[in-house]
Amino acid sequence: MGKDRCRRYLFFFTWILGVQLCFVLGEKQKVTSAKLWELWPKVRISPADPYQLRSSDVTAALEGLQKKNPKSISVEFTAKSAEGRPLPLVQWGQGELKIALWSQMHGDEPTATAALLDILHFLVSNPGNKLVRQWRDRLHLLILPMLNPDGAERTRRRNAQGIDINRDALALTTPEGRFLKQVRDRFQPEIGFNLHNQNARTSVGETKQPAMISLLAVPYDAQGNNNEGRIRSKKICALIYETLGPYCYTGIARYDDSFTVRAFGDQMSAWGTYTVLIESGWPGRGGEEYLVRVNFLAILRALQALADGSIQNANPAVYDALLQNQSDLIFDWILRGVTIWSGNAVAPFITDLGINFRDVWDDPKQRRKKGAVAEVGDLSVFRGLRETAAAEWIACPSDLGAGPPKGEITPGTQTLFLYRKKSADAAPVAANLLPVGRLAQGTWVENP
Ligand SMILES: [Zn+2]
Repeated sequence: MGKDRCRRYLFFFTWILGVQLCFVLGEKQKVTSAKLWELWPKVRISPADPYQLRSSDVTAALEGLQKKNPKSISVEFTAKSAEGRPLPLVQWGQGELKIALWSQMHGDEPTATAALLDILHFLVSNPGNKLVRQWRDRLHLLILPMLNPDGAERTRRRNAQGIDINRDALALTTPEGRFLKQVRDRFQPEIGFNLHNQNARTSVGETKQPAMISLLAVPYDAQGNNNEGRIRSKKICALIYETLGPYCYTGIARYDDSFTVRAFGDQMSAWGTYTVLIESGWPGRGGEEYLVRVNFLAILRALQALADGSIQNANPAVYDALLQNQSDLIFDWILRGVTIWSGNAVAPFITDLGINFRDVWDDPKQRRKKGAVAEVGDLSVFRGLRETAAAEWIACPSDLGAGPPKGEITPGTQTLFLYRKKSADAAPVAANLLPVGRLAQGTWVENP
């Protein structure tokens, strides 16, 4: 066999082997993500609505896990919040690579706390599982679930001092912030996961697609430079993006990457714990627990790739190419082409109406949506999470049953009566209208 021919055979053989290997690895990765996704309903211990989680629930869950398998998990309850609630530190694994994961430093952002409890339950309950054994030997997890228990108790962003813990990385006025810093200094983890929720009306770039997940390879300086640590964070984000594709479709964005000097993620990266931010946003039809499952998958896949070294194969440019979060392109509800009939001297006219809802908590565990008119006018460049073609609809500021309309409809209006014309060509007078529903002091009531 000639030298050239031999080389050609060798090249061909190597190529075939490469193709086979790619196929096997690709298959393996796909199966693993799908398996982790299917695993969640079997191992979850979190409630259907993560907003119901309180400090006492987290403590009880962790104590239960400790009891179940005391050798595999260590939980310290020594640190306390401003109001004296425990700030647990969970340690799992005996490996070299230290990874810190903290959730809910904003009290009203509970999705990842639920996912962390489910992950811990899986790890503690399956010590013989091949993956769990590999992770235990290579990773040392430091988990701080629900870093703001006082805020969680009130379902609000800030702690009991009224301070945003994520702006306290330099001053360290909050006991919760000091606790996070102490854990960082004590263990010096190489990698951090900073876990939050963002507004469900955030969109993926200008696509008007609501972002289910936004990712950030948190910068360590104001210039947004790259070093080995930040590139690894970008690789983790790229891997999470590729893992979540089948479950979040096009709903994955990049979080604003400007350096926030007082924020924890940024300072953690500057201190040497290169941090990935995961923000859970729009839950889609699956509700909040769908996002818990998405977090479960994202975090476990990242841990797997960090444990087996395959994170090296991820492409940081995939992260760089993600579209950035954009706000103000989405409304909760848009009524398109609705007739507005106000109680002032203006004749009824046709336009669009945007309504947004926010969560309010009358009772700490009772979430309800409170709505208000957010915009009146041409909304053709916006998207509604709910959209109504309202050509036959009339919006009034007061109940037409009580006489002619009184008041106006402007941004901020919380009381609104919606009617539908009995027939398309009917004049907009009370006798020709059927009530559809009303926004009463912000509460939407659909007419039967
Ligand atoms: Zn947050």
